[in-house]
Formats: sequence, C-alpha cells, structure tokens
Amino acid sequence: MPKLLLHVCCAPCATHVIETLKEDFELTAYFYNPNIHPEEEYGLRLENLKKLDAESIEGKYDTAAWFNATKGYESEPEGGARCEICYRLRMEEAARFAKENNFAFFATTLTISPHKNARAINSIGEELSKKYGIKFYAADFKKKNGFKKSVELSRKHGLYRQSYCGCVFSMRR
Ligand code: SF4
Repeated sequence: MPKLLLHVCCAPCATHVIETLKEDFELTAYFYNPNIHPEEEYGLRLENLKKLDAESIEGKYDTAAWFNATKGYESEPEGGARCEICYRLRMEEAARFAKENNFAFFATTLTISPHKNARAINSIGEELSKKYGIKFYAADFKKKNGFKKSVELSRKHGLYRQSYCGCVFSMRR
C-alpha cells in the first residue's frame, strides 16, 4: 500500500479519518500543531492521539512560528483569514516532512470539522502538492456522517474532546 502522512489536528478528528484511510494506505499520523494553547492543552491532545491504533510522529511545537505567521490577524473570527494562515502553516510542514521522508501522499484531518471550509483546505493542499512535488489526498471527511462517526468513535475510545479549536484567540471566545 502507498505510504501516506496524515496531518492530525487532534485525536477525536483523527478517529474516523484513520479508519477510512487505513484501508488503502500505510498511514502515519503527524501531530504538528503549534497553534494549540496553552502547552498543557497541547500535551493533552498529543497524549490522546497515542490512544489510537496508528503510528504517530510529533512535529516541533514551534509556537513562535505560529504567532509570527498570524500576527495582525488576532481579531479575525473563527473561519476567517487567520484560520487560512493556520491551516497553511500546519499543512505546509506536513507536505515538507512527507516529501523529505518518502511518503507518496499527504493529507489532513482538518476537513472533518463542521466549522472548517473543505474547499479552502483542499485548495491549499493542491497548491502545496505542486510546490513540494507530492500527492495530496483531497477529501471532505465530514461528509457521509463523518463528523458524527468521529464523535461516536471518540466516545468508544474514551478520548478527551476539547471545547475550543486550539489557539489562544479561539480559547478566549
Ligand atoms: S481558530 Fe483554529 S484554525 Fe483558526 S487560527 Fe485558531 S487554532 Fe487555527
């Protein structure tokens, strides 16, 4: 099976996506999320990913890179311009890492959220695919009851489900 690097934003979102993709790919989960605030929350989300049946790799928790990239967009609403920068930063690191480590594909769990625009995420993925010369697995994982299934699987695995997206701005709201 071809090797796929899956950028994982958190364990609950990864549940259904991993179940779907592991039928066709040799999958590795890549936890690269410098957006998550505070560090305790980051640790909790990472720890929960380890409860799932998938090989996983932790990327760098580079919060300075995230704050630099989103500077000036602090007051944007969720789903606005700051979020597109945030998706791109995380997906670009996944594309770069996947290419460097000989994966055939990269993908992301981000589209499973009902709050996230799959068209914008897939368009970033296609752009990065061209830039790094690696295939992007485009999908809208929330479709076909994907989000509902992820909630059920999270319950089954006893996963922690956070109440905010991840960054300090979404936490304050
Ligand atoms: S709300 Fe979520 S997607 Fe948007 S910038 Fe914050 S962590 Fe990133």
